[in-house]
Amino acid sequence: MTHPAHDAPGLFAPVVRFAPSPTGRIHIGNARTALLNYFFARKHGGQFILRFDDTDSERSTEEYALGIEVDLEWLGVAPDRKFRQSERFASYDAAARKLREAGRLYPCYETPEELERKRRLQIARGAPPVYDRAALQLTAAERSALEASGRRPHWRFKLAPEIVRWDDLIRGDSHIDCASLSDPVLVREDGSYLYTLPSVADDIDSGVTHIIRGEDHVTNTAVQVQLFRALGAAAPHFAHHNLLIGADGQGLSKRTGALSIAGLREAGVESLAVAAMAALTGSSIAVQPVHSLPELAGLFDLGAISRNSARFDDAELQALSERVLHGLSYESVRDRLAALDIVGFKAEPFWLAARGNLARFSDVAEWWSVIGGEIQPEPLESDFRSAALSALPAEPWDETTWSAWTGAVKQATGLKGKALFHPLRLALTGREAGPELAKLLPLIGRAKALARIGG
Ligand code: GLU
Repeated sequence: MTHPAHDAPGLFAPVVRFAPSPTGRIHIGNARTALLNYFFARKHGGQFILRFDDTDSERSTEEYALGIEVDLEWLGVAPDRKFRQSERFASYDAAARKLREAGRLYPCYETPEELERKRRLQIARGAPPVYDRAALQLTAAERSALEASGRRPHWRFKLAPEIVRWDDLIRGDSHIDCASLSDPVLVREDGSYLYTLPSVADDIDSGVTHIIRGEDHVTNTAVQVQLFRALGAAAPHFAHHNLLIGADGQGLSKRTGALSIAGLREAGVESLAVAAMAALTGSSIAVQPVHSLPELAGLFDLGAISRNSARFDDAELQALSERVLHGLSYESVRDRLAALDIVGFKAEPFWLAARGNLARFSDVAEWWSVIGGEIQPEPLESDFRSAALSALPAEPWDETTWSAWTGAVKQATGLKGKALFHPLRLALTGREAGPELAKLLPLIGRAKALARIGG
């Protein structure tokens, strides 16, 4: 599916990525990032990459990675490509070598305690707590002595003292003065990589043109822009979106599992409602029920995202889920119905009759058993029953049968309104309320209707 990017001049086949670390299941806030990237790729005929940032082998698990894939699939987000950082250490080593050779990556030997002491002193003096680059002053002999005493270096990226500017596609003109930042550690003492270098190396190698992510990463951007350049690449475009916060005003965390996609799915929330809430909350586009993910993608516009935080409301999600459910076509739920054994020629008219009454999709099984299974009918009072039985039309039945029949019963009994309809509903369905009887009656069929009223 490639369209020329009419509405984004100069933008040809962008490449974007969603880069979760598989250290927990994704929540609705992570889904926001995934969807914004996915929609951007679809809108501009580009590529969407799923990248697992799993260099932290202690906290990353295979189960979480697989779980995230399941969550994305449920949301309808299909990556064009996927890979894991844990497969790409050779590339990170090459990038680190390149930086070292250019004098941009230097070994440091301070212990965390020493660093903390320096920091406290700086703060006490009223100076910004920025790393003082003492390690750059070490002579070769001093470094050897430290190593001989058992110290292993961690490696810092030497920042150029410049103001990095970028035109954020959401936040507009942005800048960070790198003189106010510590040289970031890229490689730990044990040789493992922190997030920064692998991320930039991958963005370069996979040709990422646009980094769309949460605004908690704004502060990383200047360092990353310098890294792109130090590695000989142009920095991509950046777009930092506002973060979803819960109704309690707190941010969402993977650790607590709050509003996890898996949890919402298990609670029976419709995926399109989750996607619409995730993508549209905190934007100038109203949160609204949609019938398909492409329809939602069509509403999408990075420029519509607000700069304020996006407050998320559970009750709104539940209400939206019901509205989505009530508008789903038979086509779009055929497989889900089949999984509940709701198949055959009645399945489609049944779905159209029942959908408007569902709070959760799984409730549909109950209504299917109302038309095809056994129920506990509430008996009619005897004159009412005889009138109803004798007026019951012959088949074939359609959606006009109900009014023809109840018209005749009304004539015969003088009953009308609730006194007429409610007992018939109780007799036919065993329930106080439910889908329109005009639609249910032909699905229940004459034989069952007779048995329920007669019995
Ligand atoms: N693994 C990082 C995260 O989940 C990716 C950040 C980025 O998109 O650059 O926050």
